[in-house]
Amino acid sequence: MAESLPERPHMADILAAAQRIRGQADATPLLPSALTERLGHPLWLKLETCQPMGAFKLRGALNALAQLPDSTRGVTCCSTGNHGRAVAYAARARGLRAVICMSELVPATKVEGIRALGAEVRLIGRSQDDAQLKATRLVREEGFTDIPPFDHPQVIAGQGTIGLEILQALPDLDTLIIPLSGGGLAAGVALAARTLSPGLRIVGVSMERGAAMQASLEAGRPVPVEEVESLADSLGGGIGLENRHSFALCRALLDEVVLLSEAEIYRAMQALYFEDRLVAEGGAAVGVGALLAGRIAAPGRTATIVTGRNVDMAQFTQVVTGQAVTLGDVTVPGQVWR
Ligand SMILES: *Cc1c(COP(=O)(O)O)cnc(C)c1O
Repeated sequence: MAESLPERPHMADILAAAQRIRGQADATPLLPSALTERLGHPLWLKLETCQPMGAFKLRGALNALAQLPDSTRGVTCCSTGNHGRAVAYAARARGLRAVICMSELVPATKVEGIRALGAEVRLIGRSQDDAQLKATRLVREEGFTDIPPFDHPQVIAGQGTIGLEILQALPDLDTLIIPLSGGGLAAGVALAARTLSPGLRIVGVSMERGAAMQASLEAGRPVPVEEVESLADSLGGGIGLENRHSFALCRALLDEVVLLSEAEIYRAMQALYFEDRLVAEGGAAVGVGALLAGRIAAPGRTATIVTGRNVDMAQFTQVVTGQAVTLGDVTVPGQVWR
């Protein structure tokens, strides 16, 4: 049914998505942060950590799967992270077969996590590219539907429902800060938020190491970046050289993009843990990190999205106990929260 996909998502698609996901992935808490006093301006946290599979990606996956015809043979994707979990969860809710394709190098815990959500896992080859080839073959030979992680109008519309919920609760917000990777989240949320509040300032945040969207915005077209390990592992990966939707929307709607060092992400995870008592992934903490690092001038009444909680608990424990963390060829020095 690819022909019937809207060329690009509009506000009406986000409003329709809100109806489709109601009671399954909506209405996450929006709480004042305990960091408000330290920062000197109000800060609210939208807690997508409270989603049933632990991250906001459930919204986009549910919205995309809800629109598939009953004749759908099954769904597939090649994400090992939160998108794979979301597709597995949404497929089970819809009663569809899900086959998540992964490289043989993916850690066993990730494979188990996805299987526990009821999906089949195909381990194939030694890279993400091999896994994507397998997913593409399932589409061609077995009639499966590939659900891409961010560059898809219905996925973007699903993520955009977060923007609706934030601006409906806080119509006089000054600044909205959004974790940024492939830009499906930022595109949808910014579209909804800018429609409801045209004067709103919207800031994307990525990590310095491998910020594909920022590099692409600077180049004026999608460009590849080298993928490296980061505390914000959910923000890794490219935006796709054939990007059709998320790049154009981010270019049109984001006022600024801020990049954080690993030490700043480390500190943000500690801040959310010790001050707001939250377990958050590095990629989910970057909004708080940008504020703590003073990278956003005069933010005023601010909200950010704490996007997920599916963190490696061994690494999380190192961070909150102030130990050094080694990521490939770099080591983030230990530091104690204060
Ligand atoms: C996917 C993801 C993001 C980034 O979303 P994009 O749509 O790729 O920009 C941020 N945080 C978490 C926890 C994620 O899983």
